[in-house]
Amino acid sequence: MPIIPPLQINATRLNERIQALAQIGKIGETGVCRLALSPEDRAGVELVKTWMEEAGMEAYIDPFANLIGVKYGEDPLAPILMLGSHVDSQPYGGRYDGAIGVLGAIEVVQRLTEEGVLPACNIEVVAFCDEEGCRFNKGLFGVRGMTGRLETDDMERTDKNGVTRREALLQFGCNPADIAGYVFQEGRVGAFLELHIEQGPILESMDEAIGIVSGISGPLWLTVEMTGFAGHAGSVPMSMRHDALLGCAKIIVALNELAQQDPGAPTVGTVGSLVVFPDSRNIIPEKVTFTIDLRDIDLARRHALEAQLFQVIDNVSSEHGLAYTIREDTNSEPRYCANWIKETLHEEANVMGLKPPELMSGPFHDSLAMSHVCDYGMIFVRCLEGISHNPKEFASIEDIALGTELLYRAARRMTVGGAGR
Ligand SMILES: [Zn+2]
Repeated sequence: MPIIPPLQINATRLNERIQALAQIGKIGETGVCRLALSPEDRAGVELVKTWMEEAGMEAYIDPFANLIGVKYGEDPLAPILMLGSHVDSQPYGGRYDGAIGVLGAIEVVQRLTEEGVLPACNIEVVAFCDEEGCRFNKGLFGVRGMTGRLETDDMERTDKNGVTRREALLQFGCNPADIAGYVFQEGRVGAFLELHIEQGPILESMDEAIGIVSGISGPLWLTVEMTGFAGHAGSVPMSMRHDALLGCAKIIVALNELAQQDPGAPTVGTVGSLVVFPDSRNIIPEKVTFTIDLRDIDLARRHALEAQLFQVIDNVSSEHGLAYTIREDTNSEPRYCANWIKETLHEEANVMGLKPPELMSGPFHDSLAMSHVCDYGMIFVRCLEGISHNPKEFASIEDIALGTELLYRAARRMTVGGAGR
């Protein structure tokens, strides 16, 4: 075990806040349900706001329903350091996803306030509204709003009860008519740091408490439709079939192999949805529609795999006499963490006696949207068996405290100068 110097941050206070927030919208013993813009979300935001004020920040809720705490620095016009994540949850979620990034950031600022130091620039802690996207079927709402990246239909999207986001914002106490004045001016944010649970099993498998994120992988989402010819499952000889599901099966296997071509790479490929027509046990499948999700941090490698995948789809289709179409639903590029921030995190972690590995983020986070307006860095905290979006989600306070301490050291170095060593 590495020797870890005493922590500057207050892990007990941080843990108390994590557990107190988890009581709002609590489901079962350990789960939470705080859907974006719901009364539970509002109660959570109100509680977090009191902690921001306790930490020495002026706090307010903007028209996108982002909760923002401001710790004033020496030069309020200098590009700010922003810290944060989200406190909304999945309907059957855990208490750590997002929450540790907001509560950890508040702890960082509270420590700076207790030290009596004046940061060079303002530090803002943000709990972004609706990161999860489950209620209106589109996520990262608050951060996209704040950074001027909303889409035309964002306000009119409805939840399953027909409530539009605009109506939900009004019910939450926000006025969507005011949003124009709250979009960032270019250059306003100097850097963004986010602490988050890994939501994957890599750190646990490496026996590491925390990791430094290299970037958020860009997913390629395709919908493939393969069409053959239906026939009686009892009479058409095997050699005369045009079985679309058989073609699809070969592509699922090929995608699985392609994603493992480079065993050291974090590439992942998934077929997660399949619709078979006519879907009957005694008819040869005529049409199959299926999705492909391919992710990689290295865009050139992902492009090379895509080319191979397209070739496989073409070969399999001609082999089985199938027609096919490929629709591209999403094609986003990886967003890399800034090298200077990663170096800062590595150096500060070394001072703590840690050597955190670098790893890619497969899921997206608020950082993904922030990456379009400023340099960003992310710290991952190990979570039990990689389980997330599930009440069984768990991260130990020891690991969360190490991640928060690293966040503190990096934030301090970026705004005040080095932390005490
Ligand atoms: Zn999250």
